[in-house]
Amino acid sequence: MPACTTNPHVLAGVIARLNAPDYDRWAAQIRATGGCRQPIHLRGKVEYHDQATGRLLHRYTTRHEPDGILRLPCKTRRASRCPACAEIYRADTYHLIRAGLIGGKGVPESVTGHPTLFVTLTAPSFGTVHARCEKNGRVLPCHARRNAETCPHGHVMSCTAKHRPDDPHLGEPLCPDCYDYTGSVLFNALAPLLWKRFADSLRRRLAKLGGLTLKDLREHLTVSFAKVAEYQRRGVVHFHAVIRLDGPGGPAAPPPPWATTDALTQVVRYAAKAVSATVPAYDDQPERVMRWGGQLDTRPITLDGDLTDQAVAGYIAKYATKAAECVGTLDRRINPLDNLDAFNLREHPKRLIAECLRLGAIGDLADLRLTNWAHMLGFRGHFSTRSRHYSTTLGELRAVREQHVRDQEITTGRLPLFEEDTVLVISEWTYAGKGYSLGDQIIAAAITGTRIPDMAGGAR
Ligand SMILES: [Zn+2]
Ligand SMILES: [Zn+2]
Ligand SMILES: [Zn+2]
Repeated sequence: MPACTTNPHVLAGVIARLNAPDYDRWAAQIRATGGCRQPIHLRGKVEYHDQATGRLLHRYTTRHEPDGILRLPCKTRRASRCPACAEIYRADTYHLIRAGLIGGKGVPESVTGHPTLFVTLTAPSFGTVHARCEKNGRVLPCHARRNAETCPHGHVMSCTAKHRPDDPHLGEPLCPDCYDYTGSVLFNALAPLLWKRFADSLRRRLAKLGGLTLKDLREHLTVSFAKVAEYQRRGVVHFHAVIRLDGPGGPAAPPPPWATTDALTQVVRYAAKAVSATVPAYDDQPERVMRWGGQLDTRPITLDGDLTDQAVAGYIAKYATKAAECVGTLDRRINPLDNLDAFNLREHPKRLIAECLRLGAIGDLADLRLTNWAHMLGFRGHFSTRSRHYSTTLGELRAVREQHVRDQEITTGRLPLFEEDTVLVISEWTYAGKGYSLGDQIIAAAITGTRIPDMAGGAR
């Protein structure tokens, strides 16, 4: 039993909840959140009126619910905040990525015949970092150099360690004072723009290849993609993307014969090299041009080859539930007045955050909003995005699930069954907080079979 249950206040909370007359209803609400760690509290009502007569057919209000609130899952994508909701997000992402590769969920199976690549766009180097390299199943020394230089700060630029996968030094620079922290956070800040320019260049190049104007391209071909951002341990983002060529309007039509996998590979290579984004000059610093790193990986996705649809969908779905936490940064916004030393961070993420705060205060860089995104080490883009025609959407997957829940509610008598178009629905909801009291947290964990998180938390 967790030590916290010896706290008399927590124990009193547990006992009060278990003995409450509406305990069963409370437990049902908790079960319905699917083990959400930080359920959203809503207060309000919904009324169903007959459209023709205005007669009230049914009313639901949270007034009769335990504590006068309805608890709903937080639906975060971030596993660090709520493992249960992030798992739903991961599974949904997996299914929609996979549908874009093999069909299903409204995508025809013929999509398997469309040229499709799995592309990884990397960040350039901002200094040598500790790394774990494997070759044929053997771990190699990190950065062995026989006649290694000594940097101006007295560090020998060599490391012969064979780092373990959980070594906290991985991703950290051999010399922090030589490391280009400025470049690292500016790259993250410009990465979304670089991606946009890459996608634009891809379309322009394809148009050229087909002898078409960019405007005419969409009459012949659609570039569909799904991408996800992944933080490397050193604190810069990479993008992994599924890029697929469809006919006009999306996956239902085949692309023109000239749009082959080889052509797509060529065009991706060209666009990744061609695009750049410029950091404006500031203080005494000149303009700085950012590009993708030299490492570009493009691999065809096949049903039976090295890189299968399942592997790709699993990979993208996994990264869609992560943010920058693997770098050791904070999982929340940072106030520029916060004392960074108080957060108990490792030196590397602390310096990346400090660099965001320093650059964020410079007027010429205000557009990059580095102060707001310091906890993300400068990156302010979306983690996981898909073009309109890629496959189904998370919203549609959720709508199907919610309809299912609604059907269940109707059958268990909680919602009356009405003809949708003859009923006027009026709803009023207000946000009334989130999370659990410590006592509730213990019972909720027992009911849903989830782990009790950091007990210092509680209802906010
Ligand atoms: Zn949740
Ligand atoms: Zn090393
Ligand atoms: Zn140095």
